[in-house]
Amino acid sequence: MSENLPIPSGAGNAFYRGPRLKLVKKADYFSEKLWREHQVLSGDDARRERLLRRLNDAVRVAEHNCRAGGLAPGALPAPSRRALGWMRFLCHPAHLQAHLACLERCRRLAEHHLGLRAARVEWHLRHTPSLYRLTSRGPRVVICVNEGYLFAEEAVWQALGAFLLGKRRSGDRRLIRSYATGAAFAEIVHAMDGLPEERQTAGSCYDLEGVFDRVNLAYFDGELNQPRLEWSDRRTRRQFGFYRPASDTLRISRTLDNPALPRYVIDFVMYHELLHKKLGVVERKGRIIAHSTEFRRAEKAFPHYQAAMDWLKKLALGED
Ligand SMILES: [Zn+2]
Repeated sequence: MSENLPIPSGAGNAFYRGPRLKLVKKADYFSEKLWREHQVLSGDDARRERLLRRLNDAVRVAEHNCRAGGLAPGALPAPSRRALGWMRFLCHPAHLQAHLACLERCRRLAEHHLGLRAARVEWHLRHTPSLYRLTSRGPRVVICVNEGYLFAEEAVWQALGAFLLGKRRSGDRRLIRSYATGAAFAEIVHAMDGLPEERQTAGSCYDLEGVFDRVNLAYFDGELNQPRLEWSDRRTRRQFGFYRPASDTLRISRTLDNPALPRYVIDFVMYHELLHKKLGVVERKGRIIAHSTEFRRAEKAFPHYQAAMDWLKKLALGED
């Protein structure tokens, strides 16, 4: 990812200074709030929803400001880009919940190793260049662990706790480091880094943000958070949409950016992919099922279901 700014840096460039400081401060603010309130937030759905909305707003405002300033979010200086990517990652409800659970696990680890002195330890999970960092601020100890450890198994967290708070054993260190070279860790970092150089939701006929807003309002009571929206690079004839939960990315085929098609065709594909976001996957007898019975039932509730399906079939056959 490029670190080069498309605009000259320097004292005269107010835009360069503005969002960088603001974004890092914003992320610090949320990180501290998450630590202070993680137990309450875990158990209080309404409060967590409010926080999600505030995170979403912060991300959208930051991205809007970038675009308005002619700067692609992905081209921000590294600290701001990380701050923004981290906040965007937490906008996903499942990520936020896992993050909160992880903070509680950290708190218990400190209690286990330090007893009463654990009250002095503050934990953060962030999108940092390091795997972990320990700093003292007066009597307080601040431990910042890479968000990449979010879904690590118990043994890895035990090792982190022991290594950071107890004896520094090389076996623990090995486990901590080897986890960070694995696929699960990389997937999270990738999701946080995945800010495209330029988000281009506007096609020649439709803007994906507009399609999302319309479908979200009409069929989901406006309750879904906006995923990362993108057009496919090429026109496709087989796959018209795609939703990737790990990075909360929803992709729509450019084939549908066509004024000759009724609007309900693209709306239907957006609806289908948003159902994936809303319903997730179910596991049955060890198999992962994305298009469950519940999913198919909800899909058929789309008012132009049959007409939209017919159009997609026609497109797949190349008869447009
Ligand atoms: Zn599907």
